Amino acid sequence: MRKCEKCGDAVSPEDLRELAGKQLCDDCYLDVVATPKTCDPWAVYGAKNTASQEVILTSEQQRIIDHLKEKGPLTLEQICAHLDLTEGQFKNSFATLRHMELARGFKRGEQVMYTLFDDPSS
Ligand SMILES: [Zn+2]
Repeated sequence: MRKCEKCGDAVSPEDLRELAGKQLCDDCYLDVVATPKTCDPWAVYGAKNTASQEVILTSEQQRIIDHLKEKGPLTLEQICAHLDLTEGQFKNSFATLRHMELARGFKRGEQVMYTLFDDPSS
């Protein structure tokens, strides 16, 4: 008897299937093959789910939203300078805000501006 490398079940050699160099039983093989390789569906689902219910933002995300509400649209440089954020911090927070459809970016000429998702003026 051989062992499935995923679930550890004993499998007779003729029932083993090979996938990416691993010996798997029939069940595990199908499990792996049947799972679609989508681009992190949980992140999108989680964000959408949160947006439709109670929105819980980090303090950084909340500050960005508040600031955009008051002063937007703004450039990345302005937001980072006003809120004392690094470009990386802002982009991380903004990615979540964009997912939740709370904020968005758009182009004004050559400049990328950031504003609230439902800002009607831009
Ligand atoms: Zn298995």
